[in-house]
Amino acid sequence: MILQLDPGAGAQELAAIEQVLGQHGFRPTEVRTQAGRYLVAIGDREIDLRRVGHLAGVRDVHRVSDAYKLVSRKWKVGATRVDLGDGVEVAEGSLALMAGPCSIEDETLARGTAEFLQRQNVRIMRGGAFKPRTSPYSFRGTGLEGLKMFHRVAREHGLKVISEVLEISQIAEMYDYVDIYQLGTRNSQNFSLLNELGKVDKPVLIKRGMSGTIEELLQSAEYVFSSGNEKLMLCERGIRTFERASRNTLDLNAVPILKEKSHLPVVVDPSHGIGLRRFVPAMALASIMAGADGLLLEIHSDPERAASDGSQTLDFSEAERLFREARATLNLRENK
Ligand code: PEP
Ligand code: MN
Repeated sequence: MILQLDPGAGAQELAAIEQVLGQHGFRPTEVRTQAGRYLVAIGDREIDLRRVGHLAGVRDVHRVSDAYKLVSRKWKVGATRVDLGDGVEVAEGSLALMAGPCSIEDETLARGTAEFLQRQNVRIMRGGAFKPRTSPYSFRGTGLEGLKMFHRVAREHGLKVISEVLEISQIAEMYDYVDIYQLGTRNSQNFSLLNELGKVDKPVLIKRGMSGTIEELLQSAEYVFSSGNEKLMLCERGIRTFERASRNTLDLNAVPILKEKSHLPVVVDPSHGIGLRRFVPAMALASIMAGADGLLLEIHSDPERAASDGSQTLDFSEAERLFREARATLNLRENK
């Protein structure tokens, strides 16, 4: 059960609400976010919602039977719109395009990419500064200095930045240089990192763990929400299955299922999802028809020479064509 509280509810009112909940076998946790105040009450007994709905300090009360609560669609009427400012948002009914190199490399690449995206009216540039690599001998990113340069170039072109955060200490370091923190598949259940991301007032995109279930992804989002941050997006990026013909198995089933279960926007990353450049556009378009609210794409002026993930990275002419087809596909989906 979720109780939305009045922002001004006092300690006495709270104690009275908690007492009634306790009497009915519910264990309440108070959650304060930048947007609201809630009591998440866990319990398995039936309760007449009117017993708590009329109490002072309670604005609204909702029954949510799912294991995750605050990220569930059961209590929130409208879908969450993540507002990045300057008219850029990730929201249901539209398609947020996010594109850029896997890794931030040099300023020439950043500039070329930013100019291209601006021409294409794509408003969000991706690029990893801290790269989680399977081998310690692979390129591990240009770090904070690279991110500062990337952000400066992005701003010169009116773009927002999404970049992966690998550890807690980087949250503060990156703060001024990102508009969205990307939480990677390898950290999808790093609960201490999730908790800390709940304390910042910037959007977080949570990727599904490569061996994670849909429910585990929702629970990861619940961690961030319950520690204070409602500006969340979920990302399907492929899971590891027995199949070896593609890098991962892009689980497009997850898109409509997540959309039904949660009010959060759902983004798909077909680049990591299939891992094969020639099939990325098809999977991107399929993601849109499955209901995605956004796409996260790896693009590079010269994919063959990319510092990482070149084999799943589109060049600019492939990207230009995909952006055009993606917009047409969105129109088809939305019947415009
Ligand atoms: C990436 O976006 O470059 C990345 C490392 O993604 P993932 O966490 O999905 O592997
Ligand atoms: Mn990558």
